[in-house]
Parts: sequence; structure tokens; C-alpha cells
Amino acid sequence: MKTNKCKYCGAETTNALAFFPMTLIIKNYEEQKLLYNNDWERMEKEMSPEEFDALMFYDQLLNTIEKGCVCNECSEKDSELYNKYYDTSDEFELMYCDKCIQMTNHLNGVCQKCAKLKDDLEEPDLPF
Ligand SMILES: [Zn+2]
Ligand SMILES: [Zn+2]
Repeated sequence: MKTNKCKYCGAETTNALAFFPMTLIIKNYEEQKLLYNNDWERMEKEMSPEEFDALMFYDQLLNTIEKGCVCNECSEKDSELYNKYYDTSDEFELMYCDKCIQMTNHLNGVCQKCAKLKDDLEEPDLPF
């Protein structure tokens, strides 16, 4: 079986080529961004230039997607950190709803248009 090198750690992997950010999520940098609430202006003012440059560079790499292979170990580690720092559970996902017969916002797999209609039916006479 053909193997490729993991773009992050260099380990041999049989995983297929796909698109990945140029860097894995790095805990220390994410903690720094959290500390400053992702306020880049404040970071620039308060961090040392070296620290700030390193963080900017990391963020740039994280937002640059390139083709490569990633081993299972790195992929697991990355999704763990992704869930920790980029929890998307509150974000809507545009999906096709069979009932609405159109693309609608879904939250955790639930069509928000249907959910709203259901709410309206259950509480028809709101006092306000
Ligand atoms: Zn790897
Ligand atoms: Zn729907």
C-alpha cells in the first residue's frame, strides 16, 4: 500500500490526500488568543513584538489550507484541540430540510425554521 508522510509529524500514513491548515492547532497560542479575547489590537499593544509576531504567524498558517496527508494520531489530536478552542456547537449549519423543502439553518441537526414553527404552534398566544 502506498504511504505518504504526515505533513505535521512526518510519520508514515496510508491516509488519503486532503486539504489541511499548514499547522496543527497549538495550545499555547490558542490560550494567548483566548486571554486577549481575540482582540488583535490589544495583543499588538500589550505583547512583546516577538510574541505578537509568532502569534500572527501561527494564525496565518492556521488559516492557510494546503494539500497533504495527516496521520491518525495528528488528526485525533487536532480535532480534540479544535473542539476545545473552536467549539462550533452554537453555530448554524446550512442544510437541506425535507419539511421546508429548502436550505435552512440547522442547529445540532435540527432545522431552525421547523423548530420555530413548532414553538409558535405550542405557544400561540404570547402575552407581548
Ligand atoms: Zn502526524
Ligand atoms: Zn425545516
